[in-house]
Amino acid sequence: MKRLDKIKIFSYGVIGYMLLAFLWWSVLLHNKNQDAFKAKTELLRLGMAAERLYISESHFQSSPAYAALSKSYKRQQTMIIGETLVFAIIMIIGIILINRGYNKEVKAAKQQQNFLLSITHELKSPLASIKLVLQTLLKRKLNEEQIEMLANRAVKESDRLNQLVNDLLLAARLESSYVLQKASVDWVELIRYCVNSVSENNESASLRFECSLDYLEGYADENAIEIALVNLLENAIKYADGHPEITVRLQKINSTIKIEILDNGPGIPSKEKELIFQKFYRIGNEDVRKTKGTGLGLYIVKSIVEGHQGQIKVSDNLGKGSVFTMELPLKTTQS
Ligand code: ADP
Repeated sequence: MKRLDKIKIFSYGVIGYMLLAFLWWSVLLHNKNQDAFKAKTELLRLGMAAERLYISESHFQSSPAYAALSKSYKRQQTMIIGETLVFAIIMIIGIILINRGYNKEVKAAKQQQNFLLSITHELKSPLASIKLVLQTLLKRKLNEEQIEMLANRAVKESDRLNQLVNDLLLAARLESSYVLQKASVDWVELIRYCVNSVSENNESASLRFECSLDYLEGYADENAIEIALVNLLENAIKYADGHPEITVRLQKINSTIKIEILDNGPGIPSKEKELIFQKFYRIGNEDVRKTKGTGLGLYIVKSIVEGHQGQIKVSDNLGKGSVFTMELPLKTTQS
């Protein structure tokens, strides 16, 4: 058991004990008050009997002295029960709020740790690979074919490094000063272009574009939309657990553009569906995760879609996989 879990269990134990102790003291106070009332009533009864004012029990219970005693008793009982309830409710709300804040902090720390682990790995592995290529080139006499193979590997690794740095910079820019350069675009052509370019770079994947329109004019930042779409398509390929079969569907519904990316991958568990759009969030644990990534892709996609006053969500695909749906207004304002 981790140290944090032990502290959590200990704090729950202390809080539970406090609540039970408080409840016990309240019941005790309630009983003591009842006993005090009975004793006072008895004393009053004896006093009245001594003064020969006690005629019958019903006469005694309708006397002003007994009424005052009874009223004061009921007020005290109501106070005890009321204060117990108010205190217990405040304490429970406080515990829930503290617990929520604590979980948030733990999650943020975990994300930060995940990010550091993945970023360190992502930065180190291409650099180590490039270094190895260069050392091999320096030390050994190689033929032209071998040199070309090694050089290609180094280029691929530096592309990966470049992509990572670009993602980091883009995420930072989207948070601060990035202004989308919106202009008139043909959505059909833009999306077909993205699908074709991802398809060309990933020959092992099957990508299909479904659209009944030939032309759909809109207003958007072409580069940003391309980044978002390519990110979603590459994720669908990257996370596929077999042969990736991806369908991109474009529809116009009233004055909204609906873009759906359907894949046959492992799908996304319900409780992670909202979380995956957060910065640095990756499903699972960084130590056991085998796919490369930083958890920035979907955060960038969401920021771009929201920059176009649109929305993005993920749902389950029929049968297997997930569906990422972007809905954007056909004409957005310059932000
Ligand atoms: P990265 O791919 O760098 O980890 P993303 O922000 O693109 O970061 O994705 C966040 C997480 O969402 C991924 O770690 C992955 O677990 C999950 N994910 C994204 N796209 C898909 C998909 N198409 N199928 C299954 N899981 C996905």
